[in-house]
Amino acid sequence: MSTKIIAIDGFASTGKSTLSKRLAQHLGFTYMDTGYMFRVVALQVLKNKWLEAGELNDAALASFLPELNFHWVDQEDGLKAMGANGVVYGEEIRTQEVSALVSQVAANAAVRQHLLEQQRSLAKSANVVMDGRDIGTVVFPQADLKFYLIAQAEIRAQRRFDEMQAKGLTADFDAILANVVERDHLDSTREIAPLKKADDAIEIDTSHFTVEEVFALLCKQLPTDF
Ligand code: C5P
Repeated sequence: MSTKIIAIDGFASTGKSTLSKRLAQHLGFTYMDTGYMFRVVALQVLKNKWLEAGELNDAALASFLPELNFHWVDQEDGLKAMGANGVVYGEEIRTQEVSALVSQVAANAAVRQHLLEQQRSLAKSANVVMDGRDIGTVVFPQADLKFYLIAQAEIRAQRRFDEMQAKGLTADFDAILANVVERDHLDSTREIAPLKKADDAIEIDTSHFTVEEVFALLCKQLPTDF
């Protein structure tokens, strides 16, 4: 029996992860944060200094990637978290250093190929709500339902800023805005699997809606057999 897949793609900080989590809980599906996977690789690049003169060390990545396995970890609340080789990552993959590097890492062909295989394999064992950039176009073009979220850059940066402050993290609005704009540009202009709306995705501009309002819009689109 094949599993059900909902793809939520879009620009950085449009509310994809909050909404995907909500939708997954609502449906009893598993939430798959594919940005997490790219961030885990970017963290390894930073830690191991696999960036020399602005270039990724392809040889180091080629030996590291086959050993990198993502898997589901059952949590006490009954939900599944994603682990990478036994480790469930938290805020250490959400720092500005990782955010500044992740889109360069995500443009790398070997990284994308490895994570594509892992994403497809993780979706075999569970119904999933996946958020990312290329889920509806490349990873699962046959997804049961696709959304594409957009919002004004300043509003997205403000949301991220508020989120970081609420967590007690140091946040610099201008740096966040610059990063959001830079990532959008890199993600939508890269050669492999660029961010773009799938023809059959439902586009929602979240700029002037609350999470509740967007969630209600998503729920309205759910097929009755979900
Ligand atoms: O979703 P999040 O902002 O955490 O993603 C971090 C980065 O990972 C994105 O800016 C993008 O470069 C990359 N990414 C991607 N494809 C995905 C998910 C994320 O290229 N499916």
